[in-house]
Amino acid sequence: MVEEKIYIIGAGLSGLIASLELERAGFSPIILESTDKIGGRMKTDSVDGFLLDHGFQVLNTAYPEAKKYLDFQSLRLKTFDPGAVIFDDKDSYIITDPMRNPLKIVGMAFSKVGTFLDKVKMFTLTQELKKKTNEEIFNEPSIPTNQYLKEYGFSDQIIDNFFKPFFRGIFLEKNLNTSSRMFEFVFKMFSLGHAAVPEKGMGEIPAMIQRQLSKTQIYFNSPVEKVESKTIYLQNGEILQADRIIIAVQPDQVMKQLQGQFAPAHRVINLYFSTQKSFLLRPMIGLVSGNHLVNNIVFMDDVSKAYSSNGRALLSVSVLESNLAEKDLIKAVQAELEKISGIKADYFKFIKAYSISYALPNVDDLKYSIPMTECKITDHVYLAGDYLLNGSINAAMTSGRTAAEAVVYSYMPTH
Ligand SMILES: Cc1cc2nc3c(=O)[nH]c(=O)nc-3n(C[C@H](O)[C@H](O)[C@H](O)COP(=O)(O)OP(=O)(O)OC[C@H]3O[C@@H](n4cnc5c(N)ncnc54)[C@H](O)[C@@H]3O)c2cc1C
Repeated sequence: MVEEKIYIIGAGLSGLIASLELERAGFSPIILESTDKIGGRMKTDSVDGFLLDHGFQVLNTAYPEAKKYLDFQSLRLKTFDPGAVIFDDKDSYIITDPMRNPLKIVGMAFSKVGTFLDKVKMFTLTQELKKKTNEEIFNEPSIPTNQYLKEYGFSDQIIDNFFKPFFRGIFLEKNLNTSSRMFEFVFKMFSLGHAAVPEKGMGEIPAMIQRQLSKTQIYFNSPVEKVESKTIYLQNGEILQADRIIIAVQPDQVMKQLQGQFAPAHRVINLYFSTQKSFLLRPMIGLVSGNHLVNNIVFMDDVSKAYSSNGRALLSVSVLESNLAEKDLIKAVQAELEKISGIKADYFKFIKAYSISYALPNVDDLKYSIPMTECKITDHVYLAGDYLLNGSINAAMTSGRTAAEAVVYSYMPTH
């Protein structure tokens, strides 16, 4: 059994978890990765004394799968203060912990964001969601989040000032068309856990999984051209025969017959600037309400000092939609930053931009998990990846585990 040739395509989180689970079952898998690094959408670069994540993203400490596979203590997780600093056209204000302790927020602070009724509804929602299992949440009827918020009775004020900028930054789409299932799941995770980053960047997460692998071989710079039956064709012309294959990347990449079957993914542009010092002065996310290029900002070194080792502050800015050329976008973003902070645009020194065209999969029927049988597409080919469930770290891990379990099951004598 251990001699079996099991190939995994993709060394993102789902591929790495699949490999780990296969190793635990006694196999020695081979991962084929198109780039020269592990991590897929979760990487961190080191540039001029800064740590730059590929796109602003956070780990929620309540994610059940993350708790299974990651040692939070060794990652030295740095948590964000719950809540947000909100910038509207006139003012900025802090809303502390709206998804955990809404009733504790003093009246004045909340009244800028929403009504008293909103506060009560926030509280009711947290209580309701804590009672539902994650599976129950994903079995609920699905409606767009914008409709859900209105039907739940939230005021336009809190939708515009808080929900829109907060969830735009998570769903990476402007209109909150993402399913209410994802809204409920994310809301529940934020009411139970903390948003966090590893001390030295999000890339530490896949690195921690890789360190747990001892029998896996990873072939880098090995893009797969196509998969046909049990045969893998690499772009360099090499042909590999497999006993089992786990495709841990959206499968239209390697199965041409599936092209056009997937909706365009959600995209984001993440720009990094350095400044003399932070103007948020707290490990908190900054949300810009209204229609601006800038959706959310964070001084990463306010959250983890290690993100800057050169004495300057590191500002991460997320832009959801823009057709501007990079140098025009940088100028436009600097101008918006001047408006919200009062600091001159020139003081925001541009470091680097990441334009991520495939950030989150655009999934119609969001799920929390799937049975093993659903990730098996032929007797020898299995699927993994967040696109099977929902765009999250938790889903990527779940899908990797499920695909590995399906492969292991296929070798059981009773099967
Ligand atoms: C900007 C951004 C923000 C995010 N924010 C959050 C967040 O706050 N919280 C959260 O939970 N999740 C967030 N996510 C989602 C999370 O990062 C993903 O769900 C997870 O990383 C997906 O892992 P994966 O293994 O499914 O796919 P990927 O990471 O995409 O892995 C696929 C791998 O396959 C490789 N590959 C592709 N084609 C081929 C080929 N032909 N041959 C060989 N290899 C190939 C790729 O190089 C890659 O390494 C965010 C993602 C982004 C990009």
